[in-house]
Amino acid sequence: MTWMTAPSGYPNPNEYAEGDVVLDKTGAVTGRLKMGRVSDFYRKITVEIDSVTGSEKPLDNGINGIGHEDWSTVFGRVGFDVKVVPSDSNIDEPSGDSWSRVEAHQKMLEKRDSNDVDAEWRYYMLATKLNDDNAFGVMFDNSATDSDNVPRQGLQVSSHVVTSSSPGWGAFKNMRYGTVKGAYLRTALHELGHAFGLLHNDDGFDGEAPVLDNSFMNQTGNAVGRSTAASPFPDNIKWNHADRNLYQLRHWPDVFVRPGGVDFGLASNQNPPISPVDTDKEFEVPDLELTVEPLEGHAEVPLGAPVRINLTLTNKAEIPVTVPADISLKSDYTTGTVTDPTGKTRGFQSLFYFDRAEEPKVLEAGQSTSTSLTLLRGGQGALFPVSGVHKVNIKLSWCTGDGLPLSIVIGSVTVMVTPPLDKSHAAAAHKLLTTPDAHLVLVLGGDYLQDGVEAIKQAIKDKTLRPHFAGTEAKRLLKKAFDRRPDIEGASTLLSDGDAVLSNEEKEKLKKLGATV
Ligand SMILES: [Zn+2]
Repeated sequence: MTWMTAPSGYPNPNEYAEGDVVLDKTGAVTGRLKMGRVSDFYRKITVEIDSVTGSEKPLDNGINGIGHEDWSTVFGRVGFDVKVVPSDSNIDEPSGDSWSRVEAHQKMLEKRDSNDVDAEWRYYMLATKLNDDNAFGVMFDNSATDSDNVPRQGLQVSSHVVTSSSPGWGAFKNMRYGTVKGAYLRTALHELGHAFGLLHNDDGFDGEAPVLDNSFMNQTGNAVGRSTAASPFPDNIKWNHADRNLYQLRHWPDVFVRPGGVDFGLASNQNPPISPVDTDKEFEVPDLELTVEPLEGHAEVPLGAPVRINLTLTNKAEIPVTVPADISLKSDYTTGTVTDPTGKTRGFQSLFYFDRAEEPKVLEAGQSTSTSLTLLRGGQGALFPVSGVHKVNIKLSWCTGDGLPLSIVIGSVTVMVTPPLDKSHAAAAHKLLTTPDAHLVLVLGGDYLQDGVEAIKQAIKDKTLRPHFAGTEAKRLLKKAFDRRPDIEGASTLLSDGDAVLSNEEKEKLKKLGATV
């Protein structure tokens, strides 16, 4: 995707990206994905509330000050932008106090202020005295009575049903429901939860262990049954959806939540599948391109030799992007894997753990930053242990803020490892592949790693591997050891063949140490 200026209508013009949707197999463009940040909320809904004369509208829980709850406080927690429209208060009753679902549905079609489900997720809530189901509330706009084929947007609550004498109601027993304001509001939120596609979560019928926390999709009767005179309902209501319902409301595709979407009952804990929470921990930065290439002319290397890779990170966006200043293997930002021809994958990362503040760097539009890596071994051993095609995957990852997913950029390339050419090459490669310290000599230099130094000396004697290790050996010779002066002559001899395989970083390093490269 490419960051670009948003078309008009987007409230955050700088937070907008577009990109082609390309088929993995053929590379054919099958669509275009456009993405812009429009809100801090997951979704936006409108709830229109009508009532008959004598029925309260469920607007809040009746508590002022601490403990107050209303539609805004609740949906602030859910993460939805909610607009409540208290509308008609004198809805006529077609057949007295008690309403059938069909009557409620017909009244919705007649009285709702608008119904453009593509422009607005509008739910219609009707407060009547009673319903024919003898229930606290009902979602009437589904399946059997859904005559306009727009499911899940009509809800009814009963203001004149009377609470039972169960001790769980505490002081609220035998009361008219519309006056038990907390429970009444909660029923409205429960029915709206059904309209969002949610099932009850307290009886196991949703296929998961019951959640008995008095959250909205717990059934009122069950919650009262668990309550006691000491801790009665509605004082013990959890003013939110249960965690798994919250995750569904936020992450189900629109069509499962919105009015006019799939039929009620189609959404469940299994359907549609949504990614587990953990997978949101990385974010592939659009428009940052990581080019991974073998050192020019060295896409094929002899068995035993290190593989030299050039990395180029390019900002393809039209705006600057902040990236780590150091993308070499000296930083923690760069990690990778190598998959060998047998399919076995081994990782590699920096050998160093600097205790330093890692510097960010601003990459202007079109600008690139480059480095090179010399790969030989990782934590699981030799990275290129057999001949054949190896795939090298590189990942840059960095943190952009507390609690935000890691920003990542990935790139990959293949290299070919050629088999031993003769007995000398085979022996030198054997030694290198079985000597972990050869890698430390490659990275650090240093006479003290005797096994590693021996392995590299053997490679220098082999005509196939010599060019690949000449720089490593020269670097070691140019650094003084405690009883040895820098050996400029020895280093020069090694490099004088002119065929030494060196990355740009290695050339720079050798120059700094006094060699002519
Ligand atoms: Zn229910």
